[in-house]
Amino acid sequence: MKAELVSVGTELLLGEITDTNAVYMSQRLAEIGVDVHFRHTVGDNLGRITSVLELALSRCDVVIICGGLGPTQDDLTREAISEVTGRPLRPDPVAEEHLREFFRRRGYTPTSNNLKQATCPEGGMLLENTCGTAPGVLVEHEGKAIIAVPGPPPEMREMLQREVLPYLLRRQGDAATILRSRVLRLCDVGESTLVAEIDDIIRGQTDPTVAPYASPGEVRLRLATKAASEEDAVRKLDEMEARLRERVPQNIYGVDEETMEVAVGNALVEREATLAVAESCTGGLVASRVTDVPGSSRYFLGGVVAYSNEMKRDVLGVSAELLKEFGAVSEQCAGAMAEGVRELHGADFALATTGIAGPGGGTPQKPVGLVYIAVADSDGTVCAQHNWPGTRDQFKQRVSQMALNMLRKRILGIPLEAG
Ligand code: ATP
Ligand code: MG
Repeated sequence: MKAELVSVGTELLLGEITDTNAVYMSQRLAEIGVDVHFRHTVGDNLGRITSVLELALSRCDVVIICGGLGPTQDDLTREAISEVTGRPLRPDPVAEEHLREFFRRRGYTPTSNNLKQATCPEGGMLLENTCGTAPGVLVEHEGKAIIAVPGPPPEMREMLQREVLPYLLRRQGDAATILRSRVLRLCDVGESTLVAEIDDIIRGQTDPTVAPYASPGEVRLRLATKAASEEDAVRKLDEMEARLRERVPQNIYGVDEETMEVAVGNALVEREATLAVAESCTGGLVASRVTDVPGSSRYFLGGVVAYSNEMKRDVLGVSAELLKEFGAVSEQCAGAMAEGVRELHGADFALATTGIAGPGGGTPQKPVGLVYIAVADSDGTVCAQHNWPGTRDQFKQRVSQMALNMLRKRILGIPLEAG
């Protein structure tokens, strides 16, 4: 089943509002296996809405149009459907009574403008609106379906779920499929390296499809399958996930909403271990991310944001000599910060970050983007050096991601150079 979506509203074209309805409808339609081939945005103009509808009807099975069902002069969707199908608008007695009742309860009498909402193209049907006044419209015409839903997002969503999606599923009949996807999150691997690694799988794929995409601090693989049932979809996604896990065993740290901080939390819970952090350049972001996870009080003891040398010295016990000899942005300092905070809190694991976020403060020896990350546990302290120039925000995000990943590997006993 091929569909086209039409969003109506001059305010959309002016950029005053964002077309979130189209995004929502695309997502829901994909889930039930309807292919959206085109999306249109058109202003409140009868001629242009009509011409878009004509174009869409010439090549797809279903057109879903949203907005322009209201009572005012510039709400023209009903008229446009009437025009392209040649079906005159007729009052719908049930809808009209609904509307009159709605106004009666509020002490108003509906005007003729209001009553236009209760008209329907001949041979079509109105879809009840349980959160507003404008009913939706459904017209089957020459083997195609035209469906109009209201513009206000809550009304659109409710009507889509209750009326439109079930209708489209019925219309697809035995050919109905569902689309299900799963996202594998990978770290310690660039997109191009990953693509080279699993090239044959990506090339040979038909179902599930496997698509890599880079997002800040990680790479993701999106698996998507069309299946006849939920169980079928899960089985196919499981199989593909297992194949991929075999190829890149160390790199997949999470699935779907499982963020790095969740993966770290799970690893700590599994080992019944605790964590403390000492942050300089990440300014508390690591602690913030760790505590984004519900239940993090089970393993997270606390953290110190030690930005100045004095804090590093007086709170974390980094020696003045060390700071003088190697500087605050050094492997030695990162290690001492991790050890210091571990001792301070009596934690099993401790993490520390120190670096130069920029844009100022860099030197030839210690350029902007230089960072040291250390993890300390009962086996000792390990430290990694990286260089990630970028904006402060990118830098902090990236450092927090890599720091948490380093910690995760240490907890799970994965060699730091692996993956
Ligand atoms: P109403 O009865 O409220 O006039 P309507 O069906 O005529 O409903 P519109 O007038 O087109 O719908 O839009 C009403 C409001 O709904 C807009 O002002 C906007 O806030 C929101 N809206 C409309 N279309 C969209 C869209 N595509 N995405 C997000 N919001 C939208
Ligand atoms: Mg309107």
